[in-house]
Amino acid sequence: MLDLNKDVKYVKTVGPNRVKLLNKLNIYTLKDLIEYYPRDYEDRSKPKNLYECIDGEEVLIEAMATGRINEMHKGRMTISRLIVKDQTGTCYITWFNQGYLRDKFQPGRMYRFFGKISNKNGRLEMNSPVYDEIDQSKNTGKIIPIYPLTFELKQNTLRRIIENGLLEVKGQLPETLPEYILKENNLWDINNTIERIHFPIEFSDFNKARERLVFEELLTMQLALLKLKNNYEHETDGIQFSKDVHMSNVINMLPFRLTKAQLRVLEEIDRDMESNKPMNRLLQGDVGSGKTVVAMIAAYKAVKSGYQATIMAPTAILASQHLESFKGILDELGIRTELLISNVTKKKKAEILEKLQSGEIDVLIGTHAILEENVVFKNLGLVVTDEQHRFGVKQRSTIAAKGQNPDIIAMSATPIPRTLALILYGDLDISIIDELPPNRKKIETFAVRKNMEERVNNFIKKQIAEGRQAYIVCPLVEENEDMEGVADVISYTAALKKELPEQIRVTYLHGRMRPSEKDRIMEAYLNRNIDVLVSTTVIEVGINVPNATVMMIENAERFGLAQLHQLRGRIGRGAAQSYCIFVDGSGKDSPSERLQVLNKSNDGFYIAEEDLKMRGPGDLFGIRQSGIMNFKVADIYQDSSLLMQVRKLVEDLLMDDPDLTAKEHESIRGWLSLNFGNLVDFRSI
Ligand code: ADP
Ligand code: MG
Repeated sequence: MLDLNKDVKYVKTVGPNRVKLLNKLNIYTLKDLIEYYPRDYEDRSKPKNLYECIDGEEVLIEAMATGRINEMHKGRMTISRLIVKDQTGTCYITWFNQGYLRDKFQPGRMYRFFGKISNKNGRLEMNSPVYDEIDQSKNTGKIIPIYPLTFELKQNTLRRIIENGLLEVKGQLPETLPEYILKENNLWDINNTIERIHFPIEFSDFNKARERLVFEELLTMQLALLKLKNNYEHETDGIQFSKDVHMSNVINMLPFRLTKAQLRVLEEIDRDMESNKPMNRLLQGDVGSGKTVVAMIAAYKAVKSGYQATIMAPTAILASQHLESFKGILDELGIRTELLISNVTKKKKAEILEKLQSGEIDVLIGTHAILEENVVFKNLGLVVTDEQHRFGVKQRSTIAAKGQNPDIIAMSATPIPRTLALILYGDLDISIIDELPPNRKKIETFAVRKNMEERVNNFIKKQIAEGRQAYIVCPLVEENEDMEGVADVISYTAALKKELPEQIRVTYLHGRMRPSEKDRIMEAYLNRNIDVLVSTTVIEVGINVPNATVMMIENAERFGLAQLHQLRGRIGRGAAQSYCIFVDGSGKDSPSERLQVLNKSNDGFYIAEEDLKMRGPGDLFGIRQSGIMNFKVADIYQDSSLLMQVRKLVEDLLMDDPDLTAKEHESIRGWLSLNFGNLVDFRSI
């Protein structure tokens, strides 16, 4: 009986020393061993003629030894030299400190050598190649896997160990995917897959083997997520909002025309609201794409159907801004809106709470203050969270619990590519506003070096003289000795105050200030009582100051591209031309390639994809260490079409067999309960 969980020490050629080295690579069992996939391959199967060899290339040659090894000594070093030739040329081969090679090569016999070739003034040389007799293929003559390794364990050694491991399991690995899935998707079975991922015969073998592994990985992940979502949808009865309340009533009152994307998203929301399943929807849209108005229209639908709605925002200012834009339209429709933030007076608060409970408030907009226990609704039907990444799942559910399975919209400006979002938010349906309103001016974006600062400052002065306002963003709050050369808000403000004429009002803002203090400063900025706001990334969240037209970001190299894009979204909100300046403090000659991406595009989704692509060098097996994804093999960029295919399959599969009770799904069910036994925890990604 094959026991995949047996200790790796029982594998042939694995002694106590090697066990230790394998353990360092997280290889403890036979299963771990055979699932330790290569990071790359070397083709040592196709020999080249010497005259074709290019300087610096790794090649396989088949050549005859022209004599014996010639051994020389330099100090304590032994240098072994062998001259070989094929029909097209001669090559000088050298090994260092490999005295045992002395009698290995017989004059007149053919051998294979694999190594890096160099061309020294027309003389071909190869240092320390691996070799075989011509009729052997221990080290050459095939495609060789290269494993991610620590230096103590040699490639050859691990390769032998894995070969031995594979011999033990050969043909006996239990199939985890149902037969019909393999057939329909033209996938390799598990035994073939595992053998060929380590030792492909052709390079195309690797693709087939990898495809099967990726497929399986995505399938199980998607199953877990969709199953979770289905549980939620089936086990609860949601609110059916009235089919007779038409969103078009509000849409026709708006001072602008909605974009196609906004309309599409509203249709999706409308459909969900009219169904009896609780809506659980992620609304993604780049900064400035117009999510607020979508939330307002949904709130209208809820209220006119006889329910209350609530909008939760991460800051008081944002909540106030939402209230104002809601009131502008909803007042006319007789819908009563109210603001609840933590610094309202006691009296006012008591009044709000009472009216909320009696149903005299239709839409409550506010901050975390809404989460408090004494905030009780009469009949809450719709919950919207703005900038949802600022709220945990727990907070989302706390507020949802204030109604009877209310519909939920979680809004987010963090542009996660759809493929990624599907995985990260598998428990939510996703709507995307992928279009900006047509009246937007492109933000002029520059990436500059630190020594351009003076010119930049002059530019800012000019803008301020024209009545505009500016943001300056620094990575740090205070000076930090360990981070020399990284700008901080406090000293930057002090320096700027000295440099700029007195009438220019400079103030700073950062996350360690009290919330009320932050609100006061933002309010002053909004009312044009501050000209230059020096800040950390706290300004990143949704605030709208149309008169701010300049943003300068210091040490831009320290921020992620997606984050820089979010920051930039704070400007370009008015009619005037806006400018964004990324100051590269890396000291490199030219502002980095990363920053150039922001110069090229203002599309958050594109930027997020580029950001992720640039982060890891992306070895054969994808971005293993990217932090968000725990895939072993899959790379959602490379494999996005496969992901779609899998998603569809999983939807169908769960439709036919929601509890995975069919015999053919036994193995999947086992896998799921093994890995995602506690589905509740899994929800909190
Ligand atoms: P975000 O998606 O970043 O939250 P907002 O909802 O704050 O964006 O919208 C940004 C600005 O665009 C607001 O002033 C809003 O009134 C305006 N807006 C929204 N939709 C449209 C549209 N279709 N046409 C023109 N302006 C719009
Ligand atoms: Mg917003």
